[in-house]
Amino acid sequence: MVLTSDRTLMSNYHNNEFLGFGTCAPPNFIPEWIYSFFFFPSIKSKSGVSIAAPYGLRKAEAQLLKEGFNVITVNPENLGDYVEEAKIIGVHTMDPFGIGPASSTLAAILKKEPYLAKHFRGLLDSSVVTKAKKNGAKIIIGGPGAWQFRYRPKFAKTHGIDCVVEGEAENVLGRLFRAFLDGEDIPEHFTVDIRNSPVLEDIPNIVNPSINGLVEIGRGCCRGCEFCNVTQRPLRWYQYEKIMCEINVNVAAGMNMCCLHAEDVMLYGSRSTKPNDEKLTNLHKLVMTKTESLSWSHCSLAAVASNPRLFSKISEIVREKQAWWGAEVGIETGSPEIAKKIMPAKAHPFKAEEWPEVVQAGMGLMHDNMLIPACTLIVGLPEEREADILKTMELVDDLKGIRSLIVPLFFVPLGKLQHEDWFRKAEMTELHKQLLFQCAEHDFAWLDNLIDLAFAGKWYVRFLKEFYKVFTGLAKRKARQVEVSVLR
Ligand code: SF4
Repeated sequence: MVLTSDRTLMSNYHNNEFLGFGTCAPPNFIPEWIYSFFFFPSIKSKSGVSIAAPYGLRKAEAQLLKEGFNVITVNPENLGDYVEEAKIIGVHTMDPFGIGPASSTLAAILKKEPYLAKHFRGLLDSSVVTKAKKNGAKIIIGGPGAWQFRYRPKFAKTHGIDCVVEGEAENVLGRLFRAFLDGEDIPEHFTVDIRNSPVLEDIPNIVNPSINGLVEIGRGCCRGCEFCNVTQRPLRWYQYEKIMCEINVNVAAGMNMCCLHAEDVMLYGSRSTKPNDEKLTNLHKLVMTKTESLSWSHCSLAAVASNPRLFSKISEIVREKQAWWGAEVGIETGSPEIAKKIMPAKAHPFKAEEWPEVVQAGMGLMHDNMLIPACTLIVGLPEEREADILKTMELVDDLKGIRSLIVPLFFVPLGKLQHEDWFRKAEMTELHKQLLFQCAEHDFAWLDNLIDLAFAGKWYVRFLKEFYKVFTGLAKRKARQVEVSVLR
């Protein structure tokens, strides 16, 4: 069994997850080879075997190894060395068609296919994969982007994909692989339903390093936002031992950084929307004994705002070794009415109608405690009115002084809203455009400062830092030209 991913995922983004957002952009004014080097350089490999791989792919690898399969995870450019004897090629994907929120927004504005979609298609169209298929290898696709195949039903057929696995696959992966080897018929699209979600004991620990030391600390979310598919999964938190075991795998491979991954790291170990002081503190104390630098994948503003004292304590623990840390944070809207309708528990333990104040309080605490959030807003939510957009613009204005990135994303129908219409560029009103430019101005105002923080003390990346500053300057100039012509 050979596992791989396309180049946009098989990268450590110069040890900076924020740079991974660069894969959502389409080819642009920077020559492709330069852009790829600066935003998604290929991960190193030993004889083609990846020294680190996306966490989801490592989980699949661990599950297959646990079930006795002979598995190897390789870089896409080295696939040719391994496919000769491969019976199954498993491809991990995050956003195969560039229709996830970030990439579809950029693709709509810049009217081109994003890099991540281009590289995914390129991998499946490659002569190596074509040859492997002629040799009888089966192609299985999995990962968080598998849902997108429901919107591109012909792609799997035209590209010789045998099966797409959607959902948490631990309990089904081995059975599917074995069925393939036994020549049984397999559904072209296999969705793992909630009843097949793995319990904690079913989830294997990774056995090889993950990119940038990412380790999961839990799965699921209790907030139930209607536009999100995570909410359909049960909430489970890993024990310290399990988390530390995976961190040890990364540390043993020389990885001195760690990204804790959960939908809301602040709620680690909690069964409600209130943080568990003891569990969160102990987790951070433990993790910081093993790593030199820490980041969070996501956290909620409400959990931060609900316990400022705890958040400051965590910040002190983290900042014993580093000046700042980052996380992705969902603002989504500045309208209390929209918050009440589609994400009533996002502000909990506060009331949904208090959402803008919760956002300001949480962001203020992050600023004071040096957590840098990359925030998302959703543009074009169902039932959104002009008054709602104006409230979001007011909120963005209030956040001017907060060290952060704010990224507006077009609405993508997922979760309970999966039957709603996609939001398209053609539907953008003048207010939407103003909101987009307002966010761009916010980000440009902070980017130089963020680049300085991100690369502080790393002499060897001085050259990279200068490139990102020049890139930001050029992008700012281009955006302003567009802004003037669009808003005139
Ligand atoms: S808080 Fe985040 S992860 Fe949880 S349901 Fe809402 S959008 Fe999804």
